[in-house]
Amino acid sequence: MGDMILLAPTGVEANVMGADVLVTGSDASSVAGAGAHLAAGQGQTVPVALAGTAERLSAELQPGQLVVASELWTLDEGGGVVVRRRLECAELVASELRHEGHDVVVGPVLTAGVDDDRGPLVASGALVLDHDSAWAAALVDDDRPLAVVRAVEDRMGPGAMAAADTRYAALALDRVRIPLERWARACRARRVLMAAPRSFCAGVERAIEIVERALARYGAPVYVRRQIVHNVHVVRRLAGMGAVFVEELDEVPDGATVVLAAHGVAPAVRDEAARRHGFTVIDATCPLVAKVHHEARRYAAKGYQLVLVGHGDHEEVVGTVGEAPERTSLVQSPADVQALSLRDDARVAYLTQTTLATDETAEVIDALRARFPDIVGPSADDICYATQNRQEAVREIAHDCDLLLVVGSQNSSNTARLVEVARREGCKAELVEDASQLRLAWLEGAGTIGLTAGASAPESLVTEVVQALSSLGPIEIDERRTTQETVRFSLPLQVR
Ligand code: SF4
Repeated sequence: MGDMILLAPTGVEANVMGADVLVTGSDASSVAGAGAHLAAGQGQTVPVALAGTAERLSAELQPGQLVVASELWTLDEGGGVVVRRRLECAELVASELRHEGHDVVVGPVLTAGVDDDRGPLVASGALVLDHDSAWAAALVDDDRPLAVVRAVEDRMGPGAMAAADTRYAALALDRVRIPLERWARACRARRVLMAAPRSFCAGVERAIEIVERALARYGAPVYVRRQIVHNVHVVRRLAGMGAVFVEELDEVPDGATVVLAAHGVAPAVRDEAARRHGFTVIDATCPLVAKVHHEARRYAAKGYQLVLVGHGDHEEVVGTVGEAPERTSLVQSPADVQALSLRDDARVAYLTQTTLATDETAEVIDALRARFPDIVGPSADDICYATQNRQEAVREIAHDCDLLLVVGSQNSSNTARLVEVARREGCKAELVEDASQLRLAWLEGAGTIGLTAGASAPESLVTEVVQALSSLGPIEIDERRTTQETVRFSLPLQVR
């Protein structure tokens, strides 16, 4: 049977899923009889998956949809729900099935007799009815991984499951085995190495607090130009509180309260905000980004040509370039430095985006110094403390991990750099927005998984990833802290 024991209630369902499927039967006594077969693997760690069709109890379900059980229920004599087993792996299994193109719902599955009165069963709130899973689950040790997947039948009522080859359900069942095998191969005991520091920096905490306080003081809606920080979960939560996110100020009505995001804006945007009628403008630009803007203005006023090391499509860079657009050149690599159309004896100053990879940036600055020996710049580069600390923490654990997971959004620069830093250290690394983006194929064979989060990703998302990993087997958590962060920034006057 290999990596997984696959169970199905009838031979018809077993045949749909291929060879080596153990048929349990679909009533309490025949399922109990299957215990002897299961006992061969009982006490071992071989994961068990149950798959078959099920009768829908919720009218919202469509035939052919899959239900992944989060809980297995039965009913007591009074019609009350009895939770027989919770299946913590449900979300991971569902996510894997969705990646295969299935339409998947996660929720409770109820087990009862074929002829039981449907009234109390429908009233229970379970999504679907089967005649085996809760009883079969009782044969599987509590600490042994178990997944239950049911394909929704296209008929309802007693006898619906008598012919398990109904069209849509059979089509769906036909494609569940491979994702379930992937799940089974990902199940194992493992160590989770947590990098610290990780998650929110002082600039992100300040920006979020500014929006929260603005909502409390000025009332909803509070308009925020662009994502306040680059994280969809943060943006969604604040939107739920009454923040309205816009791309440009012309989408904001006169008299509104407007927050400018943490990445900073070009002076032209600030000027537009000042011109607009009745705006209350609150600037959430991180003070460390504001410092780079200040340096850009200072060097430009002294007549320097500015070279900004950074990614041209990032909002922070757009804002910094806006301080002196006619004097600023953008570079990302030593090759870009060689291609600069500045004279070698030009008066040149350099600046850097705050969220770059430290080692790559050092190479670019070396190239700048080689080409422009008199170049001036900040005493250290402008890469902020939080970016540096998170990268250092990743370097600290990368060599001990089979895989490093970075939690954060694709458009977060410092988050993307964490993935790159890990990969440069020779560690396999993947970026996930949240636990739902975990791919089970990454986890196969990964006994030690590193975990970190970008400066704009909430720690709660890290906790959810840990919970998801723990649904695949026992985990041992080890945190490695490279430094303690104590930075705090004061709030703007309007929200103090
Ligand atoms: S990552 Fe650095 S520059 Fe960006 S908001 Fe955080 S502290 Fe400020």
